[in-house]
Amino acid sequence: MDFFDVIIIGGGLGGLTAGAKLSREGKRVLLLEQHSVPGGYATTFRHKEFRVEAGLHEMDGFGGGNLKQKIFTELDIFNHVKFPEIPHFYRAITQRKDVTVPHDLHAAKALLLQEFPHEAAGLDTYFSRMEQFRKYRPESEAEAFESIGSYLDRLIRDEELKLILLGNLMAFSDDPYLLSMDYYAQAQGTYYNSGSVFIEGGSQVLSDYLAGYIESHGGAIRYRHLAVEILMESELCSGVRYRSLSDGTVYTARCRQVVVNAALPQVASSLLPAESGNILKDIISDRTPGASLYTLYLCFDRPLKEIGNQCYCTCVYGPDVNTLNDIGRNSHGRFEDKTYVLTDYSHIRSGLVAEGKGFAALVAEDYLNYWNGMTPEDYKQRKAEVTASFLSRLEQLVPGLNRHLVWYDAATARTMKRYTLNTDAAVYGFAQNPGPRSKQRISPVANLHIASAWDKFGGGFSGVIYSGYFAALEALRQERLTVR
Ligand SMILES: Cc1cc2nc3c(=O)[nH]c(=O)nc-3n(C[C@H](O)[C@H](O)[C@H](O)COP(=O)(O)OP(=O)(O)OC[C@H]3O[C@@H](n4cnc5c(N)ncnc54)[C@H](O)[C@@H]3O)c2cc1C
Repeated sequence: MDFFDVIIIGGGLGGLTAGAKLSREGKRVLLLEQHSVPGGYATTFRHKEFRVEAGLHEMDGFGGGNLKQKIFTELDIFNHVKFPEIPHFYRAITQRKDVTVPHDLHAAKALLLQEFPHEAAGLDTYFSRMEQFRKYRPESEAEAFESIGSYLDRLIRDEELKLILLGNLMAFSDDPYLLSMDYYAQAQGTYYNSGSVFIEGGSQVLSDYLAGYIESHGGAIRYRHLAVEILMESELCSGVRYRSLSDGTVYTARCRQVVVNAALPQVASSLLPAESGNILKDIISDRTPGASLYTLYLCFDRPLKEIGNQCYCTCVYGPDVNTLNDIGRNSHGRFEDKTYVLTDYSHIRSGLVAEGKGFAALVAEDYLNYWNGMTPEDYKQRKAEVTASFLSRLEQLVPGLNRHLVWYDAATARTMKRYTLNTDAAVYGFAQNPGPRSKQRISPVANLHIASAWDKFGGGFSGVIYSGYFAALEALRQERLTVR
């Protein structure tokens, strides 16, 4: 039987970061991944000469003491992976306004003051909160429980301005009244203060690098192997049972520590033994999985910016969205009316496509229960209808776009679930609902560590990289306590 210092369940970015740090510290790591490639959502796939990005539009940058700078330096990432900067923050198109928000906080504030001079006081408060995002602490319980929706309602009257300020909401949540102001301010503040970047060649480049790092530092990765049970002895994890998805063989490996990158609800209900699983279920009982995303991948015979698209990231609000109050309903409403975000990689050196070609991706809020229960034929037909409606709306945004489209395909929440096994196909783990954000350790077992979007840092590339790194530090600390 194999013995490892640490077994990691799941090869998403959180699991890979934990694995890389632990391997760097000389720990013998086994990483189990049910898919055939590393990365989870941080992945690309090929269609002819196009490299299709599946899970990254932008990641906040490295400025202002950002912890990623330290982690990436330590793992020697900057010498192997390039991070082109995104030129603008985003363009937001409401029913009456069309505004491109710059990345720089002061430039963004100046532009919005020019567009909305009657909201000077509110903009001042909002941007000073963004500027002090690291130092700021809620002054009262009411403030700690506030959502970004109610925060903006207190500060600003103009609904158009509120919608523009939330043009990148889809990066965090599907409803501003269900998104913690505290969480939003940390995340959005980072974007305003350190800009944002892409990964040249696509997110798979980072995932492959980290997987290679683990292997070149003595770790083992078993693809197409599904973890089915975490074994426990004397209230501590002692190993993992896993099954080959190629031939069905079941293996057992022993270890001193386990890191879980797999979705926490899945860990609680099917990986841990009942007693520990029930404790974990209890700890997470007040949290709900966040939304999933529908994605339309679009390949063009020329760069989309040459066809007339103006910005890297464009949010087009649905026709029924006039106020912040409409966003939640729109997210759960008809696909034909949904708000969408188009990311056009031709505005940067993406490394995804050959010179002269174009690639873009459209995303909209999606939910697994919408597609569940459909027959394969119904699913195919509904997916085609949804896709056709988005293609027609895209034509209004960029006239001529469809003429240059050489290939497209869509992924739904059902696709996300199939490739990552995430509960409800959530892409950012638990919804970041208003309420005091707990800094408490979530795991109920001393040598079980969480490295994923389901951890206290939340989802997104940066969140899971932090989660993975801290899971590794926790495991190293635990090793020191138990190994003499
Ligand atoms: C379309 C889209 C666009 C996005 N855009 C952005 C963006 O612009 N910026 C940003 O920061 N974030 C973005 N995200 C979100 C971001 O990609 C995710 O939050 C993050 O990558 C999640 O990482 P994770 O480590 O939690 O693992 P996941 O990516 O969820 O991967 C989990 C891994 O565990 C494996 N696994 C699960 N259970 C088992 C098991 N029992 N045994 C073995 N393996 C198992 C799965 O196969 C999977 O590989 C986007 C996501 C999507 C889908």
